[in-house]
Amino acid sequence: MRILLAEDDPQFGESLEEALTLEGYAVDRCLRGDSVLPALALAPYDALILDIGLPGSSGFAVLKQLRERGSLLPVLLLTARDAVSDRVKGLDLGADDYLGKPFAMDELFARLRSCLRRTAGASGPLLRAGELQLDLVSRELSCKGQRLTMPVKELAVLEVMMRNHGRFVPRARLEASIYNWDSQVGSNTVEVYISHLRKRLGSEAIETLRGVGYRLL
Ligand code: CA
Repeated sequence: MRILLAEDDPQFGESLEEALTLEGYAVDRCLRGDSVLPALALAPYDALILDIGLPGSSGFAVLKQLRERGSLLPVLLLTARDAVSDRVKGLDLGADDYLGKPFAMDELFARLRSCLRRTAGASGPLLRAGELQLDLVSRELSCKGQRLTMPVKELAVLEVMMRNHGRFVPRARLEASIYNWDSQVGSNTVEVYISHLRKRLGSEAIETLRGVGYRLL
């Protein structure tokens, strides 16, 4: 899952970015409000974590423009702890949820998962695709009831395919889910992950359509 984080505080932003990365998300960070929409146009993001107080353009203004454009991207607002009016305004402008600073990282993760779940159309914490089942909280994966373990990025690729079960997912979409701007994207990296996944799940589990992408069957 690829997340855009808009937070101007250097230390806080960096620690958030680190924590999210360790949790298995690919994270890019914007330091200004007016760079959020251009950044969103560059890559397919799964969610936006948006601070209200940003230079250039406030989080409110960004959110308003985003929704006016018809975007359904899940947005988690970061507000001051006691600013009830900010929360109300944010929700009215189309935020999916908010968190008052300071907050515990575990709560941020839980709210982010909840935002992502709502847009995936799943009602519970389990993502199912055929015989695969992924617990979105513990990140435990099972196939036919058997526990499967794999590296974080490989699981990230599989998760995107599970969310699009039966549909072809463009290679660029899979790349975006595992890399952020800082990472080197090897030209065959997605192919390597797909080949590992085929070894685990069976060679028939993933179909390749040359020039289009991959489909989990
Ligand atoms: Ca700020």
